[in-house]
Parts: sequence; C-alpha cells; structure tokens
Amino acid sequence: MTYRDLPKVELHLHLEGAAPPAFIRGLAQEKNIDLSGIFDADGGYVFRDFEHFLSVYEAACEPLKSPEDFYRLTKAVLQETASHGVIYAETFISPDFCGGGDVAAWRDYLDAMAQAATDCETSDGITLKGIVTCIRHEGPEQAKKAAKCAVETMGDFLTGFGMAGAEMMHRPADFAYSFDMAREAGLALTCHAGEWGGPDMVAETLDALKVARLGHGIKAHRDLDLVKRLADEGIVLEVCPGSNVVLKAVDGWVSHPIAKLRDAGVPVTISTDDPPFFHTTMTAEYEALNKTFGWDETDFLELNKTAINAAFCDDATRAGILKRLEQA
Ligand SMILES: [Zn+2]
Repeated sequence: MTYRDLPKVELHLHLEGAAPPAFIRGLAQEKNIDLSGIFDADGGYVFRDFEHFLSVYEAACEPLKSPEDFYRLTKAVLQETASHGVIYAETFISPDFCGGGDVAAWRDYLDAMAQAATDCETSDGITLKGIVTCIRHEGPEQAKKAAKCAVETMGDFLTGFGMAGAEMMHRPADFAYSFDMAREAGLALTCHAGEWGGPDMVAETLDALKVARLGHGIKAHRDLDLVKRLADEGIVLEVCPGSNVVLKAVDGWVSHPIAKLRDAGVPVTISTDDPPFFHTTMTAEYEALNKTFGWDETDFLELNKTAINAAFCDDATRAGILKRLEQA
C-alpha cells in the first residue's frame, strides 16, 4: 500500500484554501474576473509571505459568489481530498465569505455545501463535517455574527466553531463571547493558536476560549509546562507541517516540533491547511514525515485514530471511520 492509498483523517482544511487552482481559474473565467496576478507560470498560487498569502487567498475567493459556486467548490475539494485517501475530513467555512454574516443568506450557502458533502459521501466515500470559523482580523463584533450563524444552523453537517485569520491581532479573550455562545449551543470548539504566537498565546486561548483542539499549536513546544498541560488535558493539535514549512512558521522539516510534541504525549494529528497554496497534499505530508522522522504505517494509524477520536462528529460516524482505518 502506498501512502496515497492509506486511509486518512484530516481535521484542518480551509474550504476556500483547498480550492484547486484550475477550479478557481475556470470560475473566474466564467465570470470575467481577472485573477492573473495570483498564479505562477505553472498555474499554482503565488505569494511572498503570510501577509501576502492572506491577500492572495482573498483574491482567489472573489469568483466564489453564489451558493451554487460553493456547491461546486465543495465537490471539487472533496474529490481532490478523497483522491489522497482521506475518508473523513472537517473543513473551515466562513459566513463572512458567504452572505457577509447574515443568517438567512448563510443558510443557503450551508445547504449547498452540505448537499455536496452528501453527494460526495456516496460517489467518493469521504465524509465531511463543517466548522464555522470567525476571522480574527475582522474583529470580535464580526465574530459574533459568525457565531450566531453557526448556532442557528448547527446540525448533522455543521458541528463545530472556531477562529482563523491573523493570529497576532486582538487577544483570545476578545472572542470569549462568541466561543461561549457556540459552546452553550453544543458546538465543538477549535482555534488557531501557536502558529505565529508563542506559548502565552496558546495558554491564553485555552484559558479564555476553552477549546478542545488547537489549529497548529506548535509553538507550545517552547514551554515544557505548557507541553505537559496539553498532554495532561488531552488538547489535540491540528498540525499542518507543510504549511508551517512554506510559511516559515518553522525553519524546516527537520526542526519541526511535531515529533517532540508527540514524544511528550501531546495528541497530534496531520492536515494540509490550504494544500494548493502550500503545494502539498496529504500524501506529500505523510511522505515527508516518513522521510524526516521515520514514521511508518503503524505511526500513521495511531495518528489517524487520534484524529477521528477528536473529530467533531457523532458516535456512529466515528465508529464507522475507525472500522475503515483498522481494516486497511
Ligand atoms: Zn489553518
């Protein structure tokens, strides 16, 4: 079995960020939107640094206007993701990009994404759940709108709430209202932290937002007490090594702290974040981890079990995916 065929669970995937470049180019052409500046000669996305990445990302989202566009996007992403062996994925979706935070408008977009998920579960054997993310750099007031959208539309498909965006803007506590609202409604919680911020940001996020998982969380390795806390409390890290390497959140694969964190008992999982932007896939992540740390199929089975046990899904779905992982 190759790493491509190995069944996988992916918890950290931004829907728009996973858009295949060819899909976005095609959609832009249909709508006469000029996006030539965001692609390189090979047709991939091109950017200089994290700030520029955020603006290229927003430009790539421009052709995505209607619920129908999001139906097609979700399908394109799921087909690509499933082609790398992923059998269960969770994706970050944002009411800010889908109706500007208006609940009625959001509902139409969400229905379209959920329908695509249902269709791909049948055609491609991949299960998808949605996590509404507020966008940190849009501020706490806009985050409340995203949280309200999430609470009003949670259900079988929409199961979680989180936060993405520029980590160094605002403090976690500024968003406590939105996370409290989501938690009280029964949504599961995750938040990007410790990608750019240090251990203090990770600790503050845990204290203020009481999340079960952290997006990245890798900078926690600089504080051994915090590492122990993550291990003791079973805080699951959604680690995206290829993303960290390309965005220079770490110096390179060899110095990536994922192995150290895992050895210290922190539950770590593997994801691609925004795969075409970082020229990665789940297959490429596994191959790089194998090459760098010698991890093999036994290690990956353990990581995938950690991921599905931390997934924001119902028990029947979890049991079904666990069975598929173990039978491979
Ligand atoms: Zn992310």
